Amino acid sequence: MSKASDKMDLSPQARKLIDQHTRAIETQGDEIAKKLTSAGTVIAASCSILNLRARYMGAAGEHFSVQEYEGLQIVDALDERLLRAMKAVLAGYVERARKKPDAKALELLHGKLAPGPKEMPQYPVGYMVHFMLFSAIQAFEPLAEDGHGFETPALEIAMVHHLLAILDKYVVTREKPVTRHFSDVAREYSVVMRLKCTCGAEKFDVKLQALCQSSAGEPYDRLDLQCKECGTQRSITFDLPHFKDMYQI
Ligand SMILES: [Zn+2]
Repeated sequence: MSKASDKMDLSPQARKLIDQHTRAIETQGDEIAKKLTSAGTVIAASCSILNLRARYMGAAGEHFSVQEYEGLQIVDALDERLLRAMKAVLAGYVERARKKPDAKALELLHGKLAPGPKEMPQYPVGYMVHFMLFSAIQAFEPLAEDGHGFETPALEIAMVHHLLAILDKYVVTREKPVTRHFSDVAREYSVVMRLKCTCGAEKFDVKLQALCQSSAGEPYDRLDLQCKECGTQRSITFDLPHFKDMYQI
């Protein structure tokens, strides 16, 4: 582990934005959870929760570019809050309603609405999961109209379980400290992929990945990057709060 004091911290403005929108997501989630009366309303509610992303993307884009390091950190942090809130809403409904999905209907949805839980990467990043859920909901409407031999309510119950299976698979990777650590590292590369150079290119090479320690003793990763287009070099850092948990298995 190399000692370095060049760890990048999020600005107070970025932290404030995360806090504000976290509260908005949680309030919205609680409000929505009270109004769920059927699987159909859960699907509509899922859509409104997913649409909250447009708000914080807009807010992050106003103050930071969403293709810059800080903007990406904000969006990723809020994507996680949103997906956790959505999981809580869906899991709460499923627990109260106690309606088991028809196995055949669920199989139909897993097949027709792929990529589903089976095709997900081991450590998915929030924005990918958001996109999967959004695409599944969009594709569900024509599928439900056709019916494929099922009544709409049966398909809707199966759909709630399909969405929940995707959310579960993501949330599990963010709950245990060890899987959280691996999913944090997987996210680092997804940030590099989305990062835009001042020359306009989105093609950074990772020249070096170094595990460092802040003066306060917190582990973090430093990635040294070089733009493939113009050659500009820069470094970005990522907190690894769960690195130490790796040794406590
Ligand atoms: Zn460049």
